[in-house]
Amino acid sequence: MMKFELQGPKSQEKQRQSLISALEESRFPQALLIEGAPGVGKKKLAFDLARILSCTDASHRPCGHCFGCKMILDSGAVSNWVIPLESKEANARRASEVSAGSTAKTVDDYVAHYAKEILENPYRLNYITPAAFISVDLIRAMTSRFGLKGDRVRCVIIAEAERMNEAASNALLKTLEEVPPETYFILTTSYKERLLPTILSRCITLHLPSMTDDEVKQTVRETSGEAPDPDILGMAFGSPGKAMYYGSYRESLVTLAGDFLRHALQREYSELFFTLESENLKEIEDALFLLDVISFLLNDAVRYLSGEPLRARELSESLALWDFSLDAETLNGALIQTQETIARVESRKSAPMAALQVFAIKIFESVLRK
Ligand SMILES: [Zn+2]
Repeated sequence: MMKFELQGPKSQEKQRQSLISALEESRFPQALLIEGAPGVGKKKLAFDLARILSCTDASHRPCGHCFGCKMILDSGAVSNWVIPLESKEANARRASEVSAGSTAKTVDDYVAHYAKEILENPYRLNYITPAAFISVDLIRAMTSRFGLKGDRVRCVIIAEAERMNEAASNALLKTLEEVPPETYFILTTSYKERLLPTILSRCITLHLPSMTDDEVKQTVRETSGEAPDPDILGMAFGSPGKAMYYGSYRESLVTLAGDFLRHALQREYSELFFTLESENLKEIEDALFLLDVISFLLNDAVRYLSGEPLRARELSESLALWDFSLDAETLNGALIQTQETIARVESRKSAPMAALQVFAIKIFESVLRK
């Protein structure tokens, strides 16, 4: 009997087992959607599955040395990937349009660059910017390759599939309505609700659960060489990607998040605006990181009020956030404001600083109403 090898943490064993059963029984779905929290290993699982599906070994897949295995491990073989790109990257020329010897970067160069980053660290969160999206051209370029001769199994990973715009979604839907033989689509997403219901209905959905703190620790150590400290593990909530994200970021932004909350909830208006001005957060990534930490701290406080231990004890204590009394209603109100601000910054409807100032005022107002 064919042996399929799929490795990963114990927390995700059940999911891997169901996939292996599907492979063994030759009923592996031609359109699979892997969904779960950011950084828990969805792209890694998609990639491991693509390796198995592409392998041609007669007894053990992936074998690691057949043509199929070599092709999928080559980040330059961009036909395996659909990856969100920024407009300027997506609008670059196709490889076929560039004359020999040209040094101009093509769309394929960008895809190969990101594919390489994913292969190096599939848990990483912010390898592409919030502005990157999947255009209809990227979907069409992928499907146009289907016409090419060849009897190999085709396996396409659509990473962060919720970033498909409407035209791209509709183009993919057409393909999913009649998937060519020997072709497999593996979509990954942390925001399933942003996908078209018609696309969801064409896919078999697999929920990939988060890991235990110990598994996160081990995965981060294996991937980055460094073990996360207890606070970072607490903040990561079972996601190696999140642990690496927090661990790699500027400490000053974590402190700023705490200062922001403390000033806002204690109604120290001038201190708050002074703090914001001094940091001058122009980069969307920085603002999103700040909001992400604020969201974590608020959630941690809500849990704390309900009698659970703080997940990032040292951080929360060093920020002296809990030296004053807060009620769950205020905290939940602030959480809703945080999510709305994240959406606003992501959509680029307002500049990060302006969005943060509006956010601060809204929190003041909610505290003042008390
Ligand atoms: Zn192989």
